[in-house]
Amino acid sequence: MIRNSILSLFLVIGLASCQQSKSQDKSETTTVEQAPKGPAVITYQEYSGSEPTKPEETEFYKPAVPEVKPYAKDGAPSDAIILFDGSNLDQWISSADSTAAKWTINDDGSMTVKNRTGDIQTKQSFGSMQLHIEWKSPEEVQGEGQSRGNSGVFLQNRYEIQILDNNDNPTYTNGQVGTLYKQGTALAMASVPTGEWNTYDIIYHAPEFNEAGGKIKSATVTIIHNGVLIQDHTEVKGTTPYIGWPKNEAHGEAPIRLQDHGDNSRVGYRNIWVRPLN
Ligand code: MG
Repeated sequence: MIRNSILSLFLVIGLASCQQSKSQDKSETTTVEQAPKGPAVITYQEYSGSEPTKPEETEFYKPAVPEVKPYAKDGAPSDAIILFDGSNLDQWISSADSTAAKWTINDDGSMTVKNRTGDIQTKQSFGSMQLHIEWKSPEEVQGEGQSRGNSGVFLQNRYEIQILDNNDNPTYTNGQVGTLYKQGTALAMASVPTGEWNTYDIIYHAPEFNEAGGKIKSATVTIIHNGVLIQDHTEVKGTTPYIGWPKNEAHGEAPIRLQDHGDNSRVGYRNIWVRPLN
């Protein structure tokens, strides 16, 4: 009797042990099946949990980085929208009345502000963007301060990046060349000599507004002037008026505008292209 009881006990223990083993096997099998097959498809957001022990655990392949061919379109990247290449002003209109832009196209592939014909702006509207633009102050110097070679690039038709011939021509600091006009002073005055071509490479992130029209995120601007960083993720507090405080009412995508300052600035522009940033 005792012997039978002992045998029964071993049998019960054996079965229980066997079932536990099967359960563990099942668990391990499930874990393996859930592991990704082939190249891992992970994102930065999933960088959490236990510390990785293999390099593959922190490497991902999707989404793939899009290819852009640099210098593909007369110096512009392959995916750039060409706004001005010297041949015509088809991408631009007069800001005042939306008629054809009236600035002068020159034989060297540039255009010049035609005095008192008004600002010109792109037909197309933009939000966040990478903008390349080249500009030149006239060789023949006229005027002083803000009246010497004054123009400007208005991002989203509102926020002016100042263009000015500041060589031996002091003016108020927050109105110098390269400023976010009257808001963001430039980190450096990096202009080339008067009469030579400057480059602006502008990285702009548009502001964000809620449905009620309140701003939830300011625009920012970064500018490389002739290879020199002059604006470093500068907050755009709002519009850039000559008189008054910045204001920032809700808006969507808007044109890029170039300024006719109205005092015979004769500023030249060439090689203008943009890459919208999503
Ligand atoms: Mg200006």
